Amino acid sequence: MIDSGPGALTSEDLARLRRCVDLAREALEDGDEPFGSLLVDPTGMVRFEDRNRVRHGDATRHPEFAIARWAAAHLTPEERASSVTYTSGEHCAMCSAAHAWVGLGRIVYATSTEQYAAWTTEWGIFPAPVAPLPIRAVAPGVPVAGPAPELADDVRALHARRFGIEL
Ligand code: ZN
Repeated sequence: MIDSGPGALTSEDLARLRRCVDLAREALEDGDEPFGSLLVDPTGMVRFEDRNRVRHGDATRHPEFAIARWAAAHLTPEERASSVTYTSGEHCAMCSAAHAWVGLGRIVYATSTEQYAAWTTEWGIFPAPVAPLPIRAVAPGVPVAGPAPELADDVRALHARRFGIEL
C-alpha cells in the first residue's frame, strides 16, 4: 500500500470505490442513474450501501443523501464523524449539505463533479438544475479525497451509456 499523504488513496480505498462503481452499474441496469455509494464505520465495516433510485420520479433519491439520513438514524455523532463515505461520483450540493448537516466525516470519491460536468458538457447534455459545486464549496469542513484516475474510464462509460452516447 502506498500512502503519499493524507489525501492519497490506499488500495483499500480503491477496493471500496470499485464496489461503488459496481453499485452504479447496477443502478443503470435497473433504469436509474449510475451512481453508487457506501458508508464504512471506524472499525472498517461497511454499514450501509445504496445506489441511485430516481427512476420513479423523486430526483432526490441519491445514495449519498440516503447515507446521510441512515447515519443520522443509526450512528452516534462520534461514529458519524469517524466514518468514511465512498462514492462513485463526488457529492452534489444537496448531498454535500446533508452530509455536513448530520456530521459525517471523510468522503472519498472515484470521479469529481468537475469531471462529470466536463463529460456532460462535451456530450451536449442540458445542464443539471443544481450548480456543479465541489464538496469543499458546500461543506468546507469535510475532508475529501479523489478522484481515482484508475476508475475514470469505467465511470465515464457508465454515464455515456446512460445518455446513449457512443464513446
Ligand atoms: Zn446528490
